[in-house]
Amino acid sequence: MEYMKKEDCIFCKIANGEIPSRTLYEDQLFRVILDLGPATKGHALILPKDHAADLYELPDETASAVLVLAKKMALGMREKLHCDGLNLVQNNGEVAGQTVRHFHVHLIPRYVGDGQKINWTPTSPTSEELDAVKEQII
Ligand code: 5GP
Ligand code: ZN
Repeated sequence: MEYMKKEDCIFCKIANGEIPSRTLYEDQLFRVILDLGPATKGHALILPKDHAADLYELPDETASAVLVLAKKMALGMREKLHCDGLNLVQNNGEVAGQTVRHFHVHLIPRYVGDGQKINWTPTSPTSEELDAVKEQII
C-alpha cells in the first residue's frame, strides 16, 4: 500500500520496508521495530507508515490508534521479556530530544537495576506561578 512519505526521511524508508529493520509488528498504519541503540533489552519504536514530523502533525486517526498499539506491544513485551516496568517516551523537537523528525513512540522495557534514567529535575513554582501558567494554557 502506498503511503505519504518524505523522500529524505529514514523512518519513512524503514516503515515502508525500503530499509530492512527488525520488525516486531506491522499493520496498515504502523511498523514496530527494534531500536538500533537500545536503552534496554527490547527497546522498540512505533513508526506510523505515513510521514508526520511530530505529534503536532499527526492525524487524529493515527494519534488514537497509537496508544492502543503501545498497550498491545507493552503487554506482549511484559509476557515475553519479563520486564519489571516500561516507559513510553515520545519526543517532539530538538530541545525535547527528538533526533529523527518522523513521529515515533519509544517502548522502553525496564528492568530492576538496569541503570537507565528517564528523568527530569522537579522545580518549585509558587502557587501564583502555577495559576499563571494554567491561565496561559487554557
Ligand atoms: P528520538 O531521539 O528522535 O526520540 O529517537 C530516535 C531513536 O531512533 C533513537 O533511539 C535511535 O537509536 C533510533 N534510530 C535512529 N536511527 C535508526 C535506524 O536507522 N534504525 C533503528 N532501528 N533505530 C534508529
Ligand atoms: Zn518520515
